[in-house]
Formats: sequence, C-alpha cells, structure tokens
Amino acid sequence: MKDTKKRIALLGAGPSGLFMYKRLVESGISNLEIEIFERKQQLGAGMPYSVEGANREHITNVSGNEIPTIVTSIQQWINEVDGNVLEPYNITPKNFNDYKVLPRLLFGTYLEDQFKLLQAKAKKLGITTVLHKGIEVTDIVDKPELDQVLVEFEGSGIEAFDHVVICTGHNWPKTNEGKVDGYFDSPYPPAKLALKINHPLAIRGSSLTAIDAIRTLARSNGSFTLNKTGMLDFEPAKGSEDFRMVMHSRNGLLPAVRFHLEDSHLQNNSLLTPDEIEQNISKNDGFLSLDFIFEKDFKDLFKGKDPEFYAYIKDMTIEEFVDDAMGFRENLNPFALLRLEYEEAEKSIKRHKSIYWKELLAVLSFAMNYPAKYFSAEDMLRLQKVLMPLISVVIAFVPQTSCRELLALHHAGRLDIVAVGQESDVEINDNGGITYHFTGDDSQHNSVRYKTFVDCVGQPHLAYEDFPFKSLLDAKAVSPAKLRFRSADNGKTTLKSGNKKVKKEVDDYYLEVPGISINDNFQVVNLQGKESDRIFIMAVPYIGGFNPDYSGLDFSEAASLKILNVICN
Ligand SMILES: Cc1cc2nc3c(=O)[nH]c(=O)nc-3n(C[C@H](O)[C@H](O)[C@H](O)COP(=O)(O)OP(=O)(O)OC[C@H]3O[C@@H](n4cnc5c(N)ncnc54)[C@H](O)[C@@H]3O)c2cc1C
Repeated sequence: MKDTKKRIALLGAGPSGLFMYKRLVESGISNLEIEIFERKQQLGAGMPYSVEGANREHITNVSGNEIPTIVTSIQQWINEVDGNVLEPYNITPKNFNDYKVLPRLLFGTYLEDQFKLLQAKAKKLGITTVLHKGIEVTDIVDKPELDQVLVEFEGSGIEAFDHVVICTGHNWPKTNEGKVDGYFDSPYPPAKLALKINHPLAIRGSSLTAIDAIRTLARSNGSFTLNKTGMLDFEPAKGSEDFRMVMHSRNGLLPAVRFHLEDSHLQNNSLLTPDEIEQNISKNDGFLSLDFIFEKDFKDLFKGKDPEFYAYIKDMTIEEFVDDAMGFRENLNPFALLRLEYEEAEKSIKRHKSIYWKELLAVLSFAMNYPAKYFSAEDMLRLQKVLMPLISVVIAFVPQTSCRELLALHHAGRLDIVAVGQESDVEINDNGGITYHFTGDDSQHNSVRYKTFVDCVGQPHLAYEDFPFKSLLDAKAVSPAKLRFRSADNGKTTLKSGNKKVKKEVDDYYLEVPGISINDNFQVVNLQGKESDRIFIMAVPYIGGFNPDYSGLDFSEAASLKILNVICN
C-alpha cells in the first residue's frame, strides 16, 4: 500500500531548522513525516548559540522581546527553568526582564528546550518526527522523474523525501588556520582563542565577529572591574603586559550601539507590498528600482514618525544620504563616537524611545532581501558600494556590555582601530604570523608584522562553487545567482574596468552575485530557470547574492512561512 504521508527532511537543526519545524508542526497538516538531520547532538542552538560559536561571555544582540515566539517566551522559560541552568550567568527570574540581551549559550539552551516542546506538540498531533542526531548530510540528489529527493548522510545512509529544506547555516571555510602559526581564519569556536598573549595582535574587521574575539581574548589576558562611574576598567594580567589588539577595517569605523527598537521584529506595515513591487518592476523594463525602494521603504516611513528628519532627507539621493551619515561618523574618533552613541542609546532604552533613522535603516535592509533579485546589476553594484557599508555599520546593534568592554580596553591602551582602505593585503610570513600591508589615512604605505592574526570579517557570502551538495551542482539542479545589466554599455564598461564578476551572454551582460539562485519562496532554481517544488534553502551563506541581509532570527521566521506556504499548496 502506498504511504500517503508527506515526507519532509530538514537538513540542519539550528534556528532555521527549528522555525521550519515549528511551521510544519503548527500547519494543521497531520499526515506529515518529518526527519531532522543534525550533525551535532544539540538541537535548536545552531552555530552562534552553541559552543561552536560562543563562550560564556558572548551575548545575543537582540533582547527577549525582539525574539519571535517559538513555543514559550524567554521570560516564561526563565521563570520555569531549573535554577542551575541560570546560575552560571548570574541570571534569576527576578533580575531578568524581556528588554535584556541574553548570554548566547543560555539562549541555545532555551532553543533546545523549545525544540523538545515542539516535538511533544508534534507527537500529540500525530505528526511523526524522526531525529538523526550526530549525523552529517553529505549529499542531496534530485529525482525529478520520481518527484522525490534523495538525502545521503554519513554512514552510507540514503533516504527519499517529497521535500527537503536545507537549513545547514553558517560555514567558515578554513584556509591557513592550522597551517600557519598564529593565524585564525575565524574566531569560532571561540574556545580556541582563550590564549595567553603578550604581544600586539591583529584583528581583521571591527563588527560583531571582531567583538566576539575581543571579549574572549580580553578575558584570557586580564580582567574587567566596575568603576565608580558605572563603567568598566581593564587591567592586564601578569605575563600579558604587552597584550594589545588592533582592529583593521576598511573605513576605520566601529559599529553603532544597540538602542530601543520601537518595532521589535523589523516588520513594518507601511512597507511596499509585493503588488507594488511588481508594478514598479513592470513599469521599469523588468527591474526593480533601488531608488524607489529607498524612497518608499525608507524615506516615506519618516513622514509620520519623525517629520523633521523627513524634511531633512526628503530631497537626498541614496548617495547624498550615505555621504551625510558616513561623513558624520568619519569626522569623529571612533571610540569618542562609541561613547556618544552609548549615552544616546542608554537614553533611548530608558525612555523606550527609538532612534528612528537607525531602526528604519534596519527595516530597509530586511525589506530589501526579498526584492534584491529584481535589481538591475547597476543597482546591485550601487547597493554593494554605497548603501551596504552604511547599513553594516549601523545595524550591527552592539550590546551595551560589549560597548563598555570596548571602551575600557581602549582606555587602558589595549584596543585600537586603523582604517586600511579598499586595497589592504594580508601576507603570510614564512615563519608564522602575518604582515598587514595597507595605505593609511595619511596616504602612506604601511607594512606591520603581527605574530597573531584573527580574521573577523564575519560570515562570508559563499560562492556558487562552494555549495556543499555536489550532486545538485552536477545535475544543474541549482544555478549561479546573476543579475542582468540594464544597459549593455554599462556592462561592457564594468567588464572593461576589470570587474571579473561581469560575464557576457549573447548580447547581454550579467553580474555574478554570490551563491545560488532562488525565487521569492526560497525554492532553488535550476539552470533552465525553473524553480524546484522539492528543494528549499534557508542556509543564508549560500544565497547571499539574492538574499543579502542576514537578519538572524527574523529571517528564519519569515523564510520558513514562505516555504510552508509552498509545501502546503
Ligand atoms: C556569531 C554570531 C552571532 C549571532 N548572533 C545573533 C543574534 O544575537 N541575534 C540574531 O537574530 N541573529 C544572530 N546571528 C545570526 C544567526 O545567523 C542566526 O540567528 C541563526 O544562527 C541562523 O540559524 P541557522 O539555523 O540558519 O544556521 P546555524 O545556526 O549555523 O545552524 C545550522 C545547523 O545546521 C547544522 N548542519 C550544518 N551542516 C550540516 C550537515 N551537512 N548535516 C547536518 N547538519 C548540519 C549545524 O550543526 C547547525 O546546527 C548571529 C550569527 C553569528 C555568526
């Protein structure tokens, strides 16, 4: 007898797998058989909230009220969980409130418990869940003729499914780590950075990934104490007298500080609807205009919220707005600005009042995810060159405790930042360590040797060739993401200027963007341009071209709903 159950595989059980599981369990479909493959033993926590991505000192950059509900709220979980779980973090139901950020490892335990609650719910509803813990998926084979997908996993296992959702998440490729003394390709897992260091070390990057590394390295080489002003002092440990960290970033800027968000989930009812986006595309030779998105999903939102700011920006182009916002940041010492923004954010949190332009920039970044695949190559280049540098600085939302540590380290002469421009280069030294070559603000060429180097540029957008499930590549069941130039002349000029991502196809020019092609519902798209009804992807590093923003848990919640709608239909 034919099994009429719909068989669905979730590959990876981090936050994306968890949200997808929740959607399926709550979908109202009962003839479901869900198999979950996770290479770790812990379900739900994924990379950032497990020991793969955090030590005890690492915290989320969102607070309880900003986290989409899974089964129980964080507050409820904190009230009910065994005190031993909270004790290492000095958290009690009394001193916790929903506006606080959380230790990432504790958040991972919360996610793990949510997974268990969902499993119980599924069981009650008659939904079968099969868990494959500690099992790595090695390949995926599409079988269009059978309308099935085969999942191959460790130990020569192979199983067939109706739908597969790829939720394999973060990947930090290793190039030199382990081969070059003192070289770290990423700061993860952070336990590896618990090192005693008595020399200056280089950090590439200055955003949240860099701050993760800084917090671990600082603890291994000194300690923080609370001073009379409520801020922190840093004292180096004996044997770490020469310990010093130097961040290197293109523009020499630090990320902005977390403040009170008026709308905690980056959703906004005034954003463009899919119909309005569609209309703009059809009026615009098949391309969505970046200026239109900037006008409607950013500037117009200020009309009601901050009319004064609206009047200030209403006639600005994207370039003018970015120049204005960046100019302000570039003219101040980054640590002085951090201190100012820290104070501004404290007020915002105390008064529960947002800093609208920053919040709405985060909304814009989130909103641009869906339509990014409809931009012309020209607009994508503008987005990458002009808007993304500002967005990445502003929406990192550095938590207050991280801020206090950065300020204390800088004050103690243990942390600095240098601008290295667009053309910096990291040379590997034969006898270990690196030499950083860059042109500084003074236009002088610098070459500085470091015995220790930690690459903290954040999760890279991975290329099409890096896609891990090779049978899908071989069968051309997935295809590279690319955007057409609106004007062939522009494409030709960009190609001539040396941009290796530009390719000519017949009479048109295309810009290759990172990762594989997807449609609006996260279905993979084959080389013929046809979306798959069987294979979906939520692993953001592999879809970075068509889904450029990494909005964490909000993304997992939104993408899982779109996928569910396709599976249900
Ligand atoms: C350091 C860091 C901190 C972050 N902090 C925040 C934050 O505070 N707030 C926020 O909203 N977002 C944050 N983010 C964004 C973050 O990406 C998401 O919150 C979330 O981790 C994404 O979940 P995911 O399930 O897609 O990926 P992951 O968390 O990477 O989970 C993927 C899972 O798949 C498993 N897996 C991978 N490959 C295989 C395979 N072949 N077979 C079987 N299993 C596999 C992994 O073991 C893992 O459990 C952070 C990101 C990083 C890198």
